[in-house]
Amino acid sequence: MSVVSREWYEQYMMPNYAPAALVPVRGAGSRVWDQAGREYVDFAGGIAVTALGHAHPALVAALTEQAGKLWHTANVLVTEPALELARRLVEATFAEKVFFCNSGAEANEAALKLARRYACDHTGVDKDEILAFDNAFHGRTLFTVSAGGQPNYRENFGPLPGSITHLPFNDIGALEAAFSDRVCAVIVEPLQGEGGVVAADKDFLPAIRRLCDQYQALMILDEVQTGVGRTGFLYAYQAFDTVPDILTTAKGLGGGFPVAATLARTEVAESLAVGSHGSTWGGNPMGCAVANTVLGIVNTPEVLAGVGQRRARLEAGLRHIGDKHGVFAELRGMGLLIGCALNEPWQGRAREFLQASQDEGVFVLIAGASVLRLAPSLIIPQDDIDEGLERLERAVAVVCAGKA
Ligand SMILES: *Cc1c(COP(=O)(O)O)cnc(C)c1O
Repeated sequence: MSVVSREWYEQYMMPNYAPAALVPVRGAGSRVWDQAGREYVDFAGGIAVTALGHAHPALVAALTEQAGKLWHTANVLVTEPALELARRLVEATFAEKVFFCNSGAEANEAALKLARRYACDHTGVDKDEILAFDNAFHGRTLFTVSAGGQPNYRENFGPLPGSITHLPFNDIGALEAAFSDRVCAVIVEPLQGEGGVVAADKDFLPAIRRLCDQYQALMILDEVQTGVGRTGFLYAYQAFDTVPDILTTAKGLGGGFPVAATLARTEVAESLAVGSHGSTWGGNPMGCAVANTVLGIVNTPEVLAGVGQRRARLEAGLRHIGDKHGVFAELRGMGLLIGCALNEPWQGRAREFLQASQDEGVFVLIAGASVLRLAPSLIIPQDDIDEGLERLERAVAVVCAGKA
């Protein structure tokens, strides 16, 4: 046993999280081991981050090779891994220019600041309104949490950045009614992750695109969770046939190493002129070296097609569990971002299923109080899927038995 104690969390760390009682010490592929040597199947993926599982040999090699060469320069110097990653992202997407940072919130912060700057440069200071959606999640900086659509996340942090309007998700009528020449940007997730694993309706993103064009506003697509193959497409906008002006990417990009990016067309990117924005670690060679390797592996027909195959296997198992125990109202999401919406009797009790799953040796996530969320590695082996489903079924049985 390690001398490091889980109790140190309460003793030394700020109380903003409620981590599990176990402390993981090692991971390999889609399995994780804790301090006590217990093994878990990982259907959580560190919240859709470890896209290639734990300790993928190619990522370990990329990171250790870079670690022996050059860690950090700051942005007074540009490095080879950053140049290569920028080129890769541009070649794989609609974008022509890339800004690097370290987290999803920072990528969205840059996107929102860029949209305000762009409106100032091209129209004027009055074009400052940002349209965003209820239940959206864009990060925890003051600007991004204000754009987010979960009021409890921004309560008592005021005063908040202004001129942000929240609308119901997937409601084209409300969007049309709210639009005006004052709108500089719409920020939207193609599939709300934290907000319950709810995909945009087929015609919702095209409607945003049309209205943004009509009113000269920028469309910001937050692909922090849906990007890097998660939906079976490299980026989800490709599934919706709607090209944004700005796209943010983070979670899966470094496969577990912090690295993020804001992508845009050149004409938009020009508003981030020299000195207008920055980040000390943004584009650091370690993160970029890993991300280059992640993209090299994920952006291949085999891995992207494998996402759909794995979803099918997982979904069949989840449907079986849901039918047998009568707990799920709906399975939703795209690719390997799966939401199991609990049915009426189980509303508000997702956390009980998460806890029982941990006890049975499988990590899952929740998205709100009534949805179980799965975001496993994009290359999770079949055996791990099957073993994880067995453990999940035992967990569901335990929770159901306790109900009587
Ligand atoms: C996780 C997430 C963020 C925030 O990312 P951080 O790296 O935690 O700052 C933003 N947008 C979406 C859609 C996310 O899922």
